[in-house]
This record gives sequence, structure tokens and C-alpha cells, in this order.
Amino acid sequence: APAETPQIVVDAHGLPYLDAKLPFRRRVADLLSRMSLAEKAGQMTQAERGAVGGGGDIATYALGSLLSGGGSTPTPNTPEAWARMIDAFQLRAQATRFQIPLIYGVDAVHGHNNLAGATVMPHNIGMGATRDPELAERAGAVTAAEVRATGIPWDFAPCLCVSRDERWGRSYESFGEDPALVQSMETVIQGLQGRADGRDLSRNDKVLATAKHFVGDGGTQYGSSTTGTYTIDQGVTKVTRQQLEAVHLAPFQTAVDRGIGTVMPSYSSLDVLGDGQGPVKMHARADMINGVLKNRMGFDGFVISDWNAIDQLPGDYASHVRTSVNAGLDMMMVPYGYKDFTGTLVDEVRAGRISEQRIDDAVSRILTQKFELGLFEHPYADTTGAAAIGSPAHRAVAREAAAESQVLLKNTGGLLPLKKSEKVYVAGSDADDIGNQSGGWTLTWQGSSGNTAPGTTILQGMRAAGGNVTYSKDASAPTDGYDVGVVVVGETPYAEGVGDVGNGHSLQLSAADRAAVDRVCAAMKCAVLIVSGRPQLIGDRLDRIDALVASWLPGTEGEGVADVLYGRRPFTGQLPVTWPRSESQLPINVGDESYDPQFPYGWGLTTLTRVPQGGTATLRALALAATAAERAGADRAGRELVARARLLVQEKVGQRITEAVAKPFADADHLLLTGRYGKAVQKLTEAYRAA
Ligand code: BGC
Repeated sequence: APAETPQIVVDAHGLPYLDAKLPFRRRVADLLSRMSLAEKAGQMTQAERGAVGGGGDIATYALGSLLSGGGSTPTPNTPEAWARMIDAFQLRAQATRFQIPLIYGVDAVHGHNNLAGATVMPHNIGMGATRDPELAERAGAVTAAEVRATGIPWDFAPCLCVSRDERWGRSYESFGEDPALVQSMETVIQGLQGRADGRDLSRNDKVLATAKHFVGDGGTQYGSSTTGTYTIDQGVTKVTRQQLEAVHLAPFQTAVDRGIGTVMPSYSSLDVLGDGQGPVKMHARADMINGVLKNRMGFDGFVISDWNAIDQLPGDYASHVRTSVNAGLDMMMVPYGYKDFTGTLVDEVRAGRISEQRIDDAVSRILTQKFELGLFEHPYADTTGAAAIGSPAHRAVAREAAAESQVLLKNTGGLLPLKKSEKVYVAGSDADDIGNQSGGWTLTWQGSSGNTAPGTTILQGMRAAGGNVTYSKDASAPTDGYDVGVVVVGETPYAEGVGDVGNGHSLQLSAADRAAVDRVCAAMKCAVLIVSGRPQLIGDRLDRIDALVASWLPGTEGEGVADVLYGRRPFTGQLPVTWPRSESQLPINVGDESYDPQFPYGWGLTTLTRVPQGGTATLRALALAATAAERAGADRAGRELVARARLLVQEKVGQRITEAVAKPFADADHLLLTGRYGKAVQKLTEAYRAA
């Protein structure tokens, strides 16, 4: 507890809700029965931490929650400062009538990315490439431990967006384009929250998680509006009922089944073809939030709005409040508008336009999570775990994830892995830049270039691996004498919107990056690594590149990338999204009518196993064995058999990835993720025949 803790003894009241031995349900009912309408409205309110008059407004408005969000004023940068700040706010809450603790939330979307010195994981797109649910769970556990150790019990993650068009600036927050892939990665929820029954939440290394953004955030349509703004972020998702269910809703059902504590609706609008409503903002969709999420799926946590999102609803402010609360929103992220919100909410209830029952339901849901988190017993930061922040053990998990996320797209002549004896010329804008390799949501909302956080760059990793390396950022002197060039290029950080606006918000590499690739690849054999949140258009340049790696945004542990480059670990990553040939193909997704990408969904060469010999006969045998494994529920064996079949196809296909190959190849990955191993091998056999 902070030094100047006043003499408030929590048990002094002797009221039932303070009795830790009673079931949460009874404690919630008892506390609720004592609260005034204004106090209930306060519980439903989340304000920005810099806006609350140094904390004075916490008591004045009986605030239930504070946040440091993407758009927040700068927040502290050491674990101690975080803990002290939150403790000071909790102290204010302890001075209120019922001493209801605050619940503080942040976006820790790839590790505790708010804190310098924390372990920064690959962004979700790279996690999807690992196809490793067990690793996703461990990464979540590291994130939770580092976040909770700074006094923060709540994380606005994971994003369950199914990214269908990579022109969306949040594509990297998505695990991939296939809902089955997203679902498989939802083990991260257990990593963050602990067991599905929620009883781990009071541990000092677990946090409440948020499934976002409900629903269809990854499915918005690309286009430019009359005002010249791009509509793909926060735009309209136009889908059939069937697409809505299968693509966008399915991951949320999985999250509910895994016991997700909170859900955040999307800024976007949903337009379900044939339902007669036209496009309606998700924060106003009672049919989806009350109807589908809470009633049908059985979600019993609470729904938190997105940042200022209710202000985007049509009508006056009173109608924003009324519509969103009646749609099923339980807590409102109203960073600077919390005074208006609490006042209006009370007025709307008094006028009978929001029922008291709805308010009681919302407050009960919020209080339940606060009890689950153990905040009534321990409102202050437990910093015991702070020593582990950014520790070697935690960084080892991020390094493993970085290594597993690397997708080897092309590898002519087995250029990769590199040999330590080879003289390597490293170049490019992203070779030696932690900021670029970490992307947005790193220390600041938008992130920034430069060595902003502790860790290792890819170049440093290669040196640490014992590589014989010379470096020139701009590839200024790629004269001969080198065995191999490694050019690391890609995007500079961004968050939300349409991405790299400075680069024409396109998926083209910058002119400087293209020049670096061309200079090095003209002078020597070359491997190109693309550090980016989404595929970049390579086009015909691919012919001049010997090896190509999709590195995604690997985070602070560049050594993980070096591990696969130098063969300390094999390449095993697979594309989580389709890699297009050209802009004109967008959006492009597995399952499209015509599907002719540069690399199909699921592609990824491996340096793991020696490729098995044989042709269709081998595939037949693999299919039989895979079907047997499927029947026996032997998942590991099933996955291995499919992987072997995949290798056979990749070996035969080489770089001639025609549509007839791409389609069944990509479909096979979906079948694999849904446990249909026999069918997956059959699909791969189709691809093999077509090659
Ligand atoms: C984003 C959310 C985020 C919130 C708080 C919004 O701009 O859409 O994903 O949780 O800010 O930072």
C-alpha cells in the first residue's frame, strides 16, 4: 500500500459484501442493494487517467475504472511508477462510501508494450504464423505476469479480428484470415486469465482479458469516401448471415467458452444482407450484443465500449447513452467525457428510458469481475513479480515466438539457413531497428522507428549467433566479396487507420527499400526479409530474390529471427494470410472463387525435416494414416502426417504456384486446424496432382 494510507480498515463495516468467504453472487447482490443510482452510474464509467483531476474526480463521480489507452497522455515508464500511480488512484477509491476498488485497463497487445524494458512479443499476425497454440498460451502468461506486476489487472486483448483485407491498418492485430486459425490461437486467453472458470484471476500473475472488437472489425470494406478518407478502418462490414456466423462470430463463441471476462464492441458498422437494417454501428446493435453475445452465446462478463465510440452514434448525446446502454454495453470508455456520461445516464434512468434492471445487470457484471480479480481484498499493486519483467526467462518465450513466426516463402538452392563461415552483407531499413521490428502499440500508440526499447535487433541477433556480418543500412556499397546479402526491409510503425500513410498507405515497399533490394540482389545471392504487419507486394522482383522471408513484426527479440537464419532452429512458420501478387487482387482470401496469389494461405517452407520421398502412393498412405489418427483423436500424429504431405507438395511445386495448386493447398490448412487430418491430406494430394 502507498505510504500515506489513511486509516481505513476495510473489514470495519462488517458488511456481507466484504466477506471473502461468501460466494461472489451474494457479495454482488449485497453491495448492489446498498448503492445509489449515481454510484451505479459511476461503476459503469471508465475515464482516462490524466483527465481525472489528479484523482479527485474518482470520488466525486464514483468512477469504476480508469485506463491508459492508445490515445492517452504519456504514461509512466518504470514498473514502480506504474504501481505507484495506480495505488494512488486506488487510495482515492478507498476513500469512497463502499470502497469499491477501481479496475485499471491498458492495451497490452503483444506483451506489456506500455512499459520500457518489458518483453515485447511478435504481433498477433506473427503468432498466427507459428500455428502453435501452446506457445500462444505461454506468451499470454508472460504478458499477464508483466502487466499484473505493475498493478494493472485488465488487458484490452486479444483482438479476435479475422482480417479479410490487408489494406486495413489493424491487420497485424489479427491472427489471420481464417477463423479456425484465430480460434486455435485463443489459448492466449488461458495464458492471460488462467483457467476457464475464472478462479485464477485473483493470482498476482493473471489479468482479465478482452475479446475485441465485436464483431466484424476485420471484414470492413475498402474504398474512399467523398471526403477522401479511407473507409476500411471503422467502416462497414457487409456480409451474409452465414458469413457473419462462420467468419466473424465463431471466434467470439470460442472466447466465451474459454471464459473471457470482457468484450469490446467494434467501431465498425455491421450490414447483414437481408436483415433489413442496413449498416448500423456495432455499439448500437442490441440484436448482436444483447441477443447474440449475451443471450445466445452465454457471455456473462461485461461489455466495455471502445474509446469514445458512443459519440459516433447518430442523434444527440442522450440518445448515444440510451442506445448503447440498452444495446447491452455495461461500461463506457468515455476518457474525457465521463462527467457528461454519468450525469446523462442518471437522467435517462430517472426518465425511464433506461430501466433500473439494465443498470443493475451492468453493475453486477462489473462487480463480479472485480470480486473475481480479488480487488476488494487486494486493491493495491502486488509487485512481487516485477523482477521478472523483461527477464531472460520471459524473453526466451518471445524469442521462441519470433523464431516460430518466420515464414520462409522462397529458398532457391537452400540459401537459408546461412552458414557461419559465409560472409554476409546485411542491409536495409529494418535490419537494425527495434522500433520497426516491434511495430505500433509499442511504448506509444503509433510506435516509432529507432532503438526505442531494450532488446536485440535482427542485426544484433545475427552477430550474437556468430555470423560473419558487415552492415550498411542503405546498401551503399554492395561490392563483391560477400557470399550472401541479407536485406531487411518493410514497414515503419503505425496503429489503426490505413497503416503506413507516409508510404501512400499501400502495400508497396518504399522506393528506398526497393532500391536496397535491387542493389544487393544484383551484386550477390540474396535473402530478403520483410518486416511488416501485412504482406508487401513483391511482384516480379521475386525472380531476382533467392530467398524470401515474411518476418512480420517479431518484437524485441531479434535473436529469434537470427535463430532460424543461422539454423539454430528450423523454419516452421506458415502464412496466416494470403500473400497477393498485386493490388488489384485485394481483398484476397482462401476460399475465393478465383484464387491466384503469389503465395497461398498456409504456405511456408521448412528447413525441419528431410522431405519424404515418393509421390501419390506416399500421399495415399499418409491419408490413410491421417484418417486413422483423426478417428483415434491423435492430434499430434495427425498434424505431423499432414505436415509431411505438405512438404511433398511444396517440393514438387517449387515456385510455380498456380491457382489449381493454391486453392487446395490453402484449404488443407483450414482442414488441419479443424482436426480433419484425412481430408487435409486429400486436399494436398489434389494440389500435388495439379502441380
Ligand atoms: C482501439 C481499441 C483500444 C482502445 C483503448 C481504441 O482506439 O480501437 O482497440 O482498446 O483504443 O486504447
